[in-house]
This record gives sequence, structure tokens and C-alpha cells, in this order.
Amino acid sequence: MSLRVLLVEDDRELRATLRESLAVEGYHVLSAASAADAQRQAMHAAQAAPHDGGIDIVLLDLGLPDGDGEALLRALRGHAVQYAVPVIVISARQAEGQKIRLLDAGADDYLAKPFGIGELLARMRVALRHRGRHAAPATTRWRRDGLAIDLATRRVQLHGQDVHLTPKEYDLLARLVRQAGQVVTHRQLLADVWGAEFTAHTHYLRLYMGQLRGKLEAEPAEPRLLLTEPGVGYRMVEGE
Ligand code: CA
Repeated sequence: MSLRVLLVEDDRELRATLRESLAVEGYHVLSAASAADAQRQAMHAAQAAPHDGGIDIVLLDLGLPDGDGEALLRALRGHAVQYAVPVIVISARQAEGQKIRLLDAGADDYLAKPFGIGELLARMRVALRHRGRHAAPATTRWRRDGLAIDLATRRVQLHGQDVHLTPKEYDLLARLVRQAGQVVTHRQLLADVWGAEFTAHTHYLRLYMGQLRGKLEAEPAEPRLLLTEPGVGYRMVEGE
């Protein structure tokens, strides 16, 4: 059975384009032009398929005519929490603070407009995989560009040589690897690596990311593995 996408986007043209592209890729697309419409569609889908929630992934625009994406995300999470439906925010670049809140509120990823359909499809695959929609084992090994990370043995190697990381450097790297391909917010990283009382200390992240890039990137000033999402967080690229 094809995966079901709930596409929430009030821009008629973009909605039609995405709908068509997603359908070509084999997704079954439900679309909504407002927050109220989206909630209605989610409810109907859940009633039609109570065993799995009826929707496999949500694409959520932030600026909707009858409300913001944050309220809708919370509502969707409320309905669908037991199904852990992945939500990808698609938004204009301006609303950075809101994007961060959405990610903290349980969105899986965000994509800034304008974006290519290839990028959207890749992010959807990552989000679906992380939510266990494909029976892939949890990521314990990551490998790319000569860098190999094994979370089971806590071993990091670059071109076959062991790399020595401090415990905090390792914890930060491991946190990003567990969600490789997805953005992790500053707040989330600080809470998970340093603790909930450190969520305002973003300078820790700048310092430790600098150290990690110095040890792991071929050109630390132009990172290709540990990417900055300006104003939002960091993203480890997907492994090979
Ligand atoms: Ca909009």
C-alpha cells in the first residue's frame, strides 16, 4: 500500500505542484489549505484507518490563513501521538524563531522555501525511516568520506586512524549521528548533551562544533559533514 501524505499548504499553486510530484512518486496525497481543513482530514483519516492513524507523514506549511503551524502541530501530535506520525515543516525562511519552536514541539524536520522536490523526497525518506516506517535497525554505524563512527563501540576513525574525542565532543557527535540527515535544534542538543539547565548556552555548541570540525572535517571552515542550520541548529549529513 502506498504511503499516505497529508499536505497542508494554503498556496494553491505550490499545493498542486507538490501534490502531483508526490503522486508520481507513489504517495497517496491528502491535501488541506487551512489548519481547520487539515485537522478535519487527519480526523477522517484516523477514523478510516484506526489501526495506524491513517496518515504516514505530514508536510506542514507555517503560514496558514486560519492559524499558525505551531498550534496545528500540537493538535496533530495530540491526535496522532500514539502513531508517531512524522511531520516536516515547509516554511519561508523568515520565521526562524517559529521554526525552532516547531522542531522543539515535535516536528521532525523543516525545509525552507523554495526547495527542490528531490530534497523534499529525501527528507521524507529520512523522517519516515527515523519513525520506523521502514524496518531498518537503529543507526549504530555511520560512514562517509573516510570517517567511520560506531556508536556501539564508541569508536571514531578517520581514514582508518582512531580519532580521540573528549567525552562531550563524542556525546555531541553521537547525538547528531543518531538523527543523521535531520536538523537537531540548539535547545535539543544542549538539553541532551549537557542537560536541561544548559539550553541557553549556545556558545558551548559553537565551541564544541568547532573542535569536532577541526578533528573530523577535511576543511573545518567549509564543513561537509557537520552542517550549520543558521539560527536553528546542526545537521549531520546522512551516511553512505
Ligand atoms: Ca502559507
